[in-house]
Amino acid sequence: MAQSCDRIAVMYGGTLCEAGAKRAVLAAPRHPYTARLIACQPSHGGSAGLLPFIPGQPPALADLPTGCRFHPRCDRAFDRCTAVQPDPSWPEPGHMAACHRALGDAA
Ligand code: SF4
Repeated sequence: MAQSCDRIAVMYGGTLCEAGAKRAVLAAPRHPYTARLIACQPSHGGSAGLLPFIPGQPPALADLPTGCRFHPRCDRAFDRCTAVQPDPSWPEPGHMAACHRALGDAA
């Protein structure tokens, strides 16, 4: 993606969770799911062992969780995340994230 796209959009559980210019999204992700995806890149060192992964399972689309769809797997979730689906917010012009923490600290 980094070599072939100018803009990146990240979806989880059937919803758009982050979108923006490639450099902004990859350098400073505002949604924890995007941050975890970036952290799961295999290292270029080629070391043996388990690949990084995000604990838990993606939700079944027929049985989506309440609130933020990523909350069962999010290590930054708090009470509001389980009850209220986050609206899109724009921490910077052209950079959207649907996370209750998007306007605070980076993911
Ligand atoms: S809204 Fe809450 S659960 Fe969802 S990604 Fe943001 S911090 Fe995590």
